[in-house]
Parts: sequence; C-alpha cells; structure tokens
Amino acid sequence: MPDPRLFLDVPLAAGAVLVLDQGQSRYLTTVLRLGRGGRVRVFNAADGEWAGEISDADRRGATIALRDQLRPPALGPDLDLLFAPVKRHATDLIVEKATELGVRRLKPVVTARTISETVRLERFNAIAREAAEQTERLDLPEICPPALLTKALDGWDANRPLLYADEAGDDAAAPWGGQAGRAPPLLDAAQTTRAPALALLIGPEGGFDPAERALLRSLPFVTPVSLGPRILRAETAVIAALAVIQSVWGDWRSPSSS
Ligand code: SAM
Repeated sequence: MPDPRLFLDVPLAAGAVLVLDQGQSRYLTTVLRLGRGGRVRVFNAADGEWAGEISDADRRGATIALRDQLRPPALGPDLDLLFAPVKRHATDLIVEKATELGVRRLKPVVTARTISETVRLERFNAIAREAAEQTERLDLPEICPPALLTKALDGWDANRPLLYADEAGDDAAAPWGGQAGRAPPLLDAAQTTRAPALALLIGPEGGFDPAERALLRSLPFVTPVSLGPRILRAETAVIAALAVIQSVWGDWRSPSSS
C-alpha cells in the first residue's frame, strides 16, 4: 500500500512540522489507525509532494514532520471544464471525475435551462481535494464561482479553443434535430487542435436552448462536437469527452507524441 496522501495548502519544506486539522488528524489516526512514526505523503501545487511522518498524535490532533521531497511541482494539461450544474449527486460526480481526469479549472456556468441549484463551492472543493489526494495529482483544480454562460463567452481568451458538446441536429421536426447540422466527432477536433490550452463545454439535463446553440456556433473560438449517436447524461458526457481529450490532446498520450 502506498503511503496515504494529504493535500495541505501551506509551504512544504524539509524539516517543516505541519499541524493537521481535525478531519485530517482523524483520518490518519482513527480511519487508518496510524500513530507516531506513521508514514504520510503531503502535497500541493506550489511545493510538490513530500514524504513525512506523524511526529505527534493525541486527542487534540496530529502533526507531521516533513523529510524529503518526492516529486517537484508539476501541473497537468491546461484544460478547463465548463459545465452547467445539474442535480446534486450528478454535479458532485462531475467535480470528482473531472478532478480524477486531470481538469485544471472547473467553471460552473448558468445556462437558460440550468436547473437552479445553489452551487456549493465549499463542497465542490472538498470533493476535489479528496479526489486529488486519491488520484496522485499534485495540484487541486481551481473551482470558479458560477457565471452566466453568456458572460463566460464574452470575456473568452481566443487562444483557448472551446469544444462545445452539441448533441442536436438542425431539423426541428426530427427527434434530437435529426442528422442535418450534426457536429463532427469530438475525436476529430481534439486530435487536430495544436493549442496548448483547451476547454470543454457540457450542457445541462435539458440541453442548450436554440439561442445559446446559435450563439455558440457563431463564435470563432468555438468548435461544436458530437459524442456519438446516443444522448448521454451530462455527467456521462463529461467523463466520456474528457477521456477522449486526454487520449489525443492531453497527458494520456505517450511522451513521444507530444
Ligand atoms: N438535449 C437534451 C434534452 O433536451 O434532454 C439532452 C441534454 S444532455 C442530457 C446534456 C449535455 O450533454 C448536452 O447539452 C451536451 O453538452 C452533452 N451531450 C450528451 N450527449 C451528447 C452527444 N451525443 N453529443 C454531444 N454532446 C452530448
């Protein structure tokens, strides 16, 4: 079993003694049953990952003394996910899976059909932190406050192409808009982009409304993409699309193909 990992947002350096909060102390001492001398890894984006051991543990909490750096700081691909918050459990899943799949920034966007649920940033941060601890990444994704989709598009950095998952066709009389006007496969767009930064947009349960779809399709930095002939739930679409993007654009490729 690899030593447990904890994210700590404090400077990490050889010899530093870190005081853990109650939750982290309880996790090490009660859940994992580690005591003084127990080995732990600690990480954050600025200082990388460090080996340490529990130097003190009692009812009030635990401290960790750091020894050596195991890995220098490193960031994954510069990949943003824009998503419309959906139902509570599904949104939690999006945050967890996007963190595991290496998204650097999570940007909740409010669309015309977003079901209005409060965006619980604190909860999202806790989910992302746990996923990052488990998944061996060195940074935590930044979780941005929610913004209107139109606002997010207004200030867009044109150097970051936006892949917009568009499940619809253009024929209003046919189910899902028929075949006419369908977006090309995600794989084609992700494979051909050479941009060092990228973003993916996934819509809410009810999809995008026609005005949003027309706006998105009119913007020069937006590429509409299809995720195949079946309509996926938003959370499935996030996971499937991120796997494709990481495979052909991101860090699932072999280093020689970079
Ligand atoms: N339009 C639908 C509706 O009215 O119920 C379905 C929306 S779908 C559940 C949620 C989001 O996942 C979509 O807005 C889209 O971004 C993405 N999505 C799902 N299936 C897709 C597909 N086959 N191709 C492209 N995007 C898809």
